[in-house]
Amino acid sequence: MTKEPILLFYEDPYLKETNAIVIDVKDNIVWLDKTIFFAEKGGQVSDQGWINDLKVIDVRPEDYGHVLEKTPSFKVGEKVHLKLDWERRYRIMRLHSAAHLVYFAIKKVLGDVPVIGSHVGADKARIDIAFEGNVRPYLKDIQEIVNNKIRENKEIQIYTKENLRIWKLNDWEIPCGGTHVRRTGEIGEIILKRVNLGKDKERIEIRLKEK
Ligand SMILES: [Zn+2]
Repeated sequence: MTKEPILLFYEDPYLKETNAIVIDVKDNIVWLDKTIFFAEKGGQVSDQGWINDLKVIDVRPEDYGHVLEKTPSFKVGEKVHLKLDWERRYRIMRLHSAAHLVYFAIKKVLGDVPVIGSHVGADKARIDIAFEGNVRPYLKDIQEIVNNKIRENKEIQIYTKENLRIWKLNDWEIPCGGTHVRRTGEIGEIILKRVNLGKDKERIEIRLKEK
């Protein structure tokens, strides 16, 4: 039996609260018929928030169990209230969208370098590339391309093609099952930083420049 709930964030990534029915409870893990909580996937971290007044500290990607800070009193069949830590999730959406822009800007500036890893957290995102040398001299150009796209406040399209969710900004297109903002302007200015991972590996860290 699959316990995967209906994933409401695909329909509306801006949905912050909803009600759901408890399908199963085991100790501090809860399964629901539907959810607004994203479970770690494709390098994007899981959401946090609350079910009723209990904190959701993690969502397990393997079976979509919502991990609570302690064992709840609610039972199977009960209706519960879900609430996202929206401040955190919105930062993740902005950073995730920024990471796609940085990816395409890297391709524009450095050519077709292999991406060997990526991650989107609540405070920063990162893209790791195979690159001989130091990317620092190129960061300013990459950052400028991205921040220009952000200033243009372009519309981001998300649609499904052959069962894949596609993120699209003009001719920049990438399959992705994460959560994103609708317009680039929502990201706000970003700052890039280089981290050296050792021989021929470079990490580009992405942070939001908070107003
Ligand atoms: Zn994405």
